[in-house]
Amino acid sequence: MNTINEIEDMKIEQRKLPALSYQYKDALYLNITPRCPTACSFCIKFSWEYMYRNYNLLLPKEPSVEEVLATIQNPERYSEIVFCGYGESSYRLLEMEKISLYLKQHGAKKIRLNTIGLGNLINGRDISQELARFLDVVSISLNTLDPEEWKKIHRPLPEFKEKGFESVIEFIRACAKKIPETFVTAVEMGAQDKEKFENFVLKLGAKARFRPFLDEYESV
Ligand code: SF4
Repeated sequence: MNTINEIEDMKIEQRKLPALSYQYKDALYLNITPRCPTACSFCIKFSWEYMYRNYNLLLPKEPSVEEVLATIQNPERYSEIVFCGYGESSYRLLEMEKISLYLKQHGAKKIRLNTIGLGNLINGRDISQELARFLDVVSISLNTLDPEEWKKIHRPLPEFKEKGFESVIEFIRACAKKIPETFVTAVEMGAQDKEKFENFVLKLGAKARFRPFLDEYESV
């Protein structure tokens, strides 16, 4: 029989293993890639050393569809299942689709992608139609209407610098036409900027959402 201290040590060891899925409130989040097209200035993965509320989200390698699914029991009990880890899930479009379709067949209520919005550039084509086959919600992190500021905030890799901002805007517009709900997020800003941001996003066909800095992490 293990002592209480041994059990506690085992729990800590368990938490150190990379989490492919993790629960926050009543939603389940999926961590399927460590790759990012950006090094966002607001990202907490560096300062929190890839931990998130006791989960280790540092993936040594990309997990297979089967490995991710093996970590999920009873998908119907979550309010939603969200692709959102310390990486950009759009790098794994095919795997996202396979995971989502399986989860929906097994009772998942809602599937959401949190993204930095560079999926079209990452995949070299407009992926909105493909996303629409399995997503109920997409949440795109934009944070500013100024292309130069966008570069400063998101610090894109060289290949995403020049066309990045424009591509995110096009991505929002395309998703808003095809996916049931498209949100565009920004860290809280002043009332005037907020109104401008909201109006801009509305014209793209989407809805704006503001979040407090570091209050609630949304991968992106
Ligand atoms: S916020 Fe998301 S896309 Fe940006 S660096 Fe962090 S994990 Fe990558």
